[in-house]
Amino acid sequence: MAKNTNRRKMTKDKIEKRERAMIEGIMEGSPDGIGVVVIRLDCGCRKMAAVARDGEPASKIIIYRDLAESICDKCKEDNGDYMRVTESFIHFTEEPSEEDRKKIYLKVLGREPVN
Ligand SMILES: [Zn+2]
Repeated sequence: MAKNTNRRKMTKDKIEKRERAMIEGIMEGSPDGIGVVVIRLDCGCRKMAAVARDGEPASKIIIYRDLAESICDKCKEDNGDYMRVTESFIHFTEEPSEEDRKKIYLKVLGREPVN
């Protein structure tokens, strides 16, 4: 049981400081959003977009690179291809029911939440 609690905590802490700032910015501009999809790419760039309760996008997809003015050349070329995704998850600012959470994950990321 203790193990489970730890894993859950780790997920919550998975968001990095700069990502958190981005998430806040995206949520501010997305009144329908209940969370933000965070996609980390192998080159260090990130893709993010707000997601609505029904799993539909609630903002445009934002692609950015920490401390850089623009995204890397690779991303400019393939727009952050899903083949290069190293990690993806949804950070909910408004926690949905377990059922909705699953539905949104399936719709957005094509899989069930890991934890
Ligand atoms: Zn990149």
